[in-house]
Amino acid sequence: MTLWLLNVAVGRAQTLPIVIDDRITVSLPDEVTFAIEASGDQPITSIVLTYGITARTCQEAVATQAVEFEPGRDVEASWALDLRKAGSLPIGAEIWWSWELIDETGARSTTERQVARIDDSRFAWRSATRGPITLSWHTGDAAFGAALLAIADASLNRISQDAGLVFEDPIQVFIYAQPDEIAEVILFQPEWVGGLAFPEHNIVMAAIAPGEDAWAQEVLPHELMHLVSGALTFNCRGAQLPTWLSEGLSRFAEERADATFAAQVRDRALAGDLPPLLSLANQFSAFGNEARVSYEQSRQVVTFMIETYGADRMADLLAGLQSGLAIDAALIKVYDLDTQSLDSAWRASFGAPTRPAARVTPISVPTLALWTAVPQASATLAPTDTPRPPTPTPAPTVAPTAEAPKTSPTTGPLGCGGSIVLLGGLAWFVTRRRVRL
Ligand SMILES: [Zn+2]
Repeated sequence: MTLWLLNVAVGRAQTLPIVIDDRITVSLPDEVTFAIEASGDQPITSIVLTYGITARTCQEAVATQAVEFEPGRDVEASWALDLRKAGSLPIGAEIWWSWELIDETGARSTTERQVARIDDSRFAWRSATRGPITLSWHTGDAAFGAALLAIADASLNRISQDAGLVFEDPIQVFIYAQPDEIAEVILFQPEWVGGLAFPEHNIVMAAIAPGEDAWAQEVLPHELMHLVSGALTFNCRGAQLPTWLSEGLSRFAEERADATFAAQVRDRALAGDLPPLLSLANQFSAFGNEARVSYEQSRQVVTFMIETYGADRMADLLAGLQSGLAIDAALIKVYDLDTQSLDSAWRASFGAPTRPAARVTPISVPTLALWTAVPQASATLAPTDTPRPPTPTPAPTVAPTAEAPKTSPTTGPLGCGGSIVLLGGLAWFVTRRRVRL
């Protein structure tokens, strides 16, 4: 690709190897291949690749890999990063790398660090920027892209003004026309996943075709809120957003509620038949309708918190989580309520009975089957995605939305769950995805 002179030499002055080629090839969804070709006066006997992903992580995301090759004056070497083990990278993610060459005399030289962005070259992309958001799309005209950008921009403003959550880092949003276009480049994604949030990268991927206005109004605010809540609670102390808070905030960002399920939540709470908030801390039910009730319940609790106590306190609550407080400690510090008493206060606000704490039993459910899920494909992968309705029908009867389960305390602090990818010393948060109706 480019000629790179090695810029660092340790040892005696001598002629350093010349790099003839230094490149990566991205073959989504499976691998990223690093390749180098170099020539030197002295035989080159060792080549070591150092690479990493630019992302919000707790551990420095750096991996070092000795590469096998045939020693000589003219050498070629390559190494493939297996994304099936390391976890998918979203479109727009940045990967960096450099090589260290050691010759027969022991002289070492290191190539200049290069950075590449993961692109999806299957499509011709257009893009537009407003404020911190850059939105790219491949189907639809300029007006379509502008309309989506306006939705995203308005959503970020609402998140800031109504929920009190200010986030100004650059955000990339990639709009596909069909869900399967996303499934083809992100591993372990069902074909019906319509939206994915990658909080570690400040990236959203969503499938929105021209004309799907209602869906756009739903998925963009939802995913953007996941980015914001994830960023504002990011910490390396193991404190995580409970599912009800993460999803409740994202549903709050959507502005619109599902009247049918809103009524169902109220009726069941009044009848004493609504699960306690404590049971919604880690994931939601695997059953479609029950999951939708949980999303709506979470939305109502978050709305109650913001309307009753003010948006500033929500920002304080997330700051408390970011400082490493567990959810109950953070709630008590900011609201003087723990999860159970917050639940009671919300129920009491419309005359529903307080559910006895003794009845609190976490719902045990399968890992996948929620409709906003941050599925964990494997121990090494954890995106967050939002499935979308098969078609822009007004009211899907079943809403498979799965929020991926939270991982261990050392993993993602972000809302929909997530995990750290460990790969030969490299650790970084990968994606999290959730599926939305
Ligand atoms: Zn969600």
